Formats: sequence, C-alpha cells, structure tokens
Amino acid sequence: MKSGHGNNFDSLAKGIGKFHLQNETVLIPEMNRIAAHLLAATFRSFGNNAMVLPTYNGLDLGKKYTSGKECFPCQITLGDILLFLRSEQEKLGAAFDPQNYLYFLPESDGPCRFGMYNKYQRMVLDSFAGFDKVKIVSITATDGYSLEGVIEKDRMLAFKKASYIAVVVADIMERLLWRIRPYERQEGIADDFIERSMQKMASFFEAHGAANDFDRILDKLEEITNHGKALMDHTIPVKPLIGIVGEIFLRMHVHSNQELIRVLERHGAEVVNSSLAEWVNYVTYGRLRENKLNFRLNLQQLNFGGLKNYFHKIFSFGGDLFYQQMRQKQFYNRATRRIDLEQDHKVSHLERLLKKEDIFTFDVTTETCLSIAAILQFVNEGYNGVVNVYPFTCMPGMTTSAIVKPVMNRMRIPYLDTPYDGSFQPGRETAIRTFMHQATQHLQRYGRKGGLQKKAA
Ligand code: SF4
Repeated sequence: MKSGHGNNFDSLAKGIGKFHLQNETVLIPEMNRIAAHLLAATFRSFGNNAMVLPTYNGLDLGKKYTSGKECFPCQITLGDILLFLRSEQEKLGAAFDPQNYLYFLPESDGPCRFGMYNKYQRMVLDSFAGFDKVKIVSITATDGYSLEGVIEKDRMLAFKKASYIAVVVADIMERLLWRIRPYERQEGIADDFIERSMQKMASFFEAHGAANDFDRILDKLEEITNHGKALMDHTIPVKPLIGIVGEIFLRMHVHSNQELIRVLERHGAEVVNSSLAEWVNYVTYGRLRENKLNFRLNLQQLNFGGLKNYFHKIFSFGGDLFYQQMRQKQFYNRATRRIDLEQDHKVSHLERLLKKEDIFTFDVTTETCLSIAAILQFVNEGYNGVVNVYPFTCMPGMTTSAIVKPVMNRMRIPYLDTPYDGSFQPGRETAIRTFMHQATQHLQRYGRKGGLQKKAA
C-alpha cells in the first residue's frame, strides 16, 4: 500500500497522534448525536474549526474497504470519513486540500480492537491519493484522554472541563428525551423539542465553553428540562422501565442499533440507556485504580524509585475523578429539580456491586465489567428488563451475555441480547415484542422503580 508518510509503519507513527490544532477543520465522528454537536461547539469556542461528520450514509464504503473481520463501529466510522472526504473532493475540486482536515478518532487500550481502528483506517486513507495527508488526531484512554500536545498547555484544563460538561449535558438531554417521549402529548414533539434544544445548547457551548462559564449552561439546561416536562401527558399510565447496557458505540449510535430505543418504546417501554459520562468516568477511575495497585505493589517490593511517579498519578487522576463526579452531580441536581430523570451510576459503586456478587471483576478491563455491574444495578433498582446491545462478534458484548444470562434467568428478570452488524434480522422485532411482553408482566407483578401506581411524572 502506497503511503505519503514513507513506509506503512512510518505512516502509523506519523499520521496518527496528538497533532496540535491550528487552522484545520476538526472532523468529529457522530457516535452520540448530541454529544458530538456539543463537543464540536466546544472546539469552536476555543477558536478551532470543528464539524460533526455526517454518519451512516457511507456504510457501503466502510464495508468495501474492510475484510468483514473488523468490528462494526470500525466499518461505520471508516465509511463516514471516506464518504465525507470524497464529497469534499468533488465539491471543492482543485481547491480541495486534505491538509485542511484533522480526523478526530480516540482509542482505547486493553484487549479490544478499538485500539486498532485508527491504525487500520490510517492504512485505508493512505491508499487513496491525497487522503494520506489527512491526519488522524487520536487521544487515548491509556492516559485518561489527555489533550497534551493537541491544545495549548494554558488552555488544556479549560478545554478538558468544557468537553466533560458537554458530555454530561448531552447525557442529561438524552435522558430527558427518553423520559418524555413515551409520555408525549402529541407524537413527534419530544424529538422536535430535543433537536431544537440541542442547537440552542450548542450555541451556548460555543459562546461560553472556553470561558468555563458553566452557570449559564446550567441555567439553560434547567430551562430545557422544565420545558420538556411540560410536553408530557401525565394521565398516561407508567410503563415498564428498561435499562440498556453494552458496547458504547452501538448503544449510542441510533442508526447502527436500528433505533433500538424507539422500537422498545413502540412496544410500550420507557428506556434508560447507560451514559457516555459513565465511560469517561470509568476511564479515569481505571487509571486511578491501576496507579493505586502499582503504588501498593512497589511499596510491598520496597521499590521506592517508582513511588513518586505513581503518587503523582494517583493525585492527578484522583483530582480528575473528583472534579468529574462533582460536576456531574451538580448538573444532574439542577436538571432534576422539577423532573425525575435517572441519575448516573457511580463507577466505584459499580465495582463494589460486582465484588459483592463475585461474578466478574474490574481487573479484566473493557466494557464487560461496566455492563455486568450496570445490569445488577438496574435489577437492584427495580427495572423491569435489561437489553444488552453490541456489535456482532464483539468480545465484551458476548462475554457480558454469557455471564449475565444465567443470572437473569435465576432472578427472573427479562433480558435480551441484541447484536447488530448492519443487516436486518426478520426475527428482531418479534424478539423485542416478546421481551416487552415479559417486561410488562414483570411490571404488573413486581411494580417498578418509582412505584407501579406512579403516573408519568
Ligand atoms: S468493544 Fe467490541 S466492537 Fe468495540 S473494539 Fe472491542 S470487540 Fe470491537
């Protein structure tokens, strides 16, 4: 494969990394629609051009340039970037300059293939004349998604704070949508309202993100949640409450999960999806946990050389986690003054829960530990059913399924696995309908979180 960066290995080293943002346009893949738009607005607030990549129309391209062994999210994101660059090339003609774009593709460490998406996509981009000049900006879970080298040092902390708040606000706005849509006064008003609110919120992030003026954003969020509540018909009887766990991309990306939440709602559910901030907090928590373990190990071995370094990291990740959880609580508290939205799971609580049940461990990283613990938490809280959504052949998704299925059978909680690969399975809707029938029976027999007789709010 020909490459503008010399040989292929050079390309992986030079074409992916923490590139300093200048005048290029940052291309943000759309995993979660609201979060992607708020994040792009945050970049713009700091003076960078940024836009959200249109998504899912390039799936054919993504499939064409993969072998079929790659994870489904890798095919989707590859298709998105290829289609976008091709259409820019067509639109701009001779004025198209690939160096004007920075493709933002974070990665994760551990046993998962997510750490390889950017490398594989680098190789594919390099095979197209000119696209080898499009740099891939990659931040990694290994250092807690540090932006060092991407943003100027003196603005890094402000950017980190604003982008985390963007994630939390996106989570809350989605929770608002799922809370009001099953009880909306008129079909379609909840979707319209959240779309308009997202645009307004994005302009708030663009105006106030860089100054970290979060009070303005808090006020706006409260206003939005209050308006949202007014769209509910409070005479509609309460519905079975369904929790969703699973692989983060598929959970969030409504096209690739074939609008799973909407389908569940069509069959009578009220749904709560696990949040995006849960993953961000988990990454910070994981780094803190890892450094604490290393610190203890070095202390036991009387290896004092490394202690200072681990202590510094414990302090740094501990501070980050404290800030994240404090801000998250503050935003949820404001948003839930007048409407009962679900609070987010605290990662330390999830780990304790998993230890107590002793069916998996945080020592094995990836989303499996989060998903299993979140399922147990949903059950403890009185949810009427749980859906595990993941890409076909996804290792953490299948591990979750194997461990949790017998537990759910024993507890008699409705449970459904929904793997996706872009094809339409004729039995899917039937499986969801059957699952929702069981969840409705569960509601009638045991009630649900908040009480069986509770009305919509
Ligand atoms: S979590 Fe699943 S989909 Fe994502 S990289 Fe790992 S195996 Fe692939």
